Amino acid sequence: MTRPIPPGSTIGILGSGQLGRMIALAARNLGYRIAIFSPEADAPAASVADEEFVADYLDLDRIREFARQVDVVTFEFENVPSVTTRAAAEFAPVRPDGQVLHVTQNRLREKSFLKENSFPTTPWMRVQQPSELQAALAQIGAPGVLKTADFGYDGKGQVKIQRAEEAPAALASFNGQETVYEGFVDFEMELSVVAARTEAGEFKAFPVFENRHAHHILDVTVVPAGISPKLAAQAEELTRGILEKLQVVGVLTVELFVARDGRLLVNELAPRVHNSGHITMDACITCQFEQQVRAICGLPLGSTGLNAPAAAMANLLGDLWAKGAPNWSAVLSDPGVKLHLYGKAEARRGRKMGHMNLAGTDRETVVRTILAQRERVFAGAGVVQLAG
Ligand code: AMP
Repeated sequence: MTRPIPPGSTIGILGSGQLGRMIALAARNLGYRIAIFSPEADAPAASVADEEFVADYLDLDRIREFARQVDVVTFEFENVPSVTTRAAAEFAPVRPDGQVLHVTQNRLREKSFLKENSFPTTPWMRVQQPSELQAALAQIGAPGVLKTADFGYDGKGQVKIQRAEEAPAALASFNGQETVYEGFVDFEMELSVVAARTEAGEFKAFPVFENRHAHHILDVTVVPAGISPKLAAQAEELTRGILEKLQVVGVLTVELFVARDGRLLVNELAPRVHNSGHITMDACITCQFEQQVRAICGLPLGSTGLNAPAAAMANLLGDLWAKGAPNWSAVLSDPGVKLHLYGKAEARRGRKMGHMNLAGTDRETVVRTILAQRERVFAGAGVVQLAG
């Protein structure tokens, strides 16, 4: 067992987006130094890092130089190439390790891992050729979703197939890439469990979050989820099993569907802090970013308990800037609303610019209040509001 990496040490982060920024801010609160590595200069994490390496992830000399200067390496996105984590691991522990990344950065490997270990998913089959597509349609049927095996997030690289006749064109649009065809889940609800595990095997999950998406992008997260304590306990146990099987050191998020028959199905794993976990910044005793720092540094995990009976998080996408900069005084006119912005200069459609959190006494009130506040502030900005 390795010794803890104490405050004062340097944490290296691969990636410099908002997740890296919020990990860095939490790490700073605990007295750590931060080095970031990213191909992009001046990205959200840069202004809160002590040191910035700007180079390609495949520039392995620079990666080694970076890893030599830090005490532990972590990452804020799962698509870091394996050669990069291997080069970094020559000089500093990479947490979670390259094997966790290898499994979770490819849908086929991830789904095979889940299947081999009896974690429940919707039926799926590997598809690359038209003949494999026909076999998958015969076995699984339609509707379904065809997803690229590599590098998909926020609904990118996936096509919903309503009727079998639509499937060949969808497969052709992927130009011979390896894909996964999976049965469409007519879900009751989407959930996520953000959890952490240390090298010593300590495990802690945050309360189960309920997530609502708009256009495949997370829109609103609510805690506690509207599920029974029994189902919440099942979701936590399933998550514990996944982190243990993968021997994760750090935070990993399990995205789940609740099917109409009440079964839990794993949709996806993210070997990192998660957008839904942003709610923990104002809803929990320890936030997901601090938990990530504690886990990768070998410190005891913090309490994941709630600060309030309920809380909601609403994402702020670049679309909201369509008519110019928002009126921040109006955003903050509700004294309970906490605003988190990522320091991105340019607001583009679908770009995550920040989020708002609100804690309160019950689910319905916090969701209604935060959505009304977002609507009021950004009225007319072309926001697509969710039903329900
Ligand atoms: P993913 O990129 O796989 O996380 O998918 C993004 C979102 O698309 C999910 O959060 C769901 O809202 C939806 N989705 C993905 N796969 C399915 C499926 N098999 N059945 C129903 N909805 C899905």
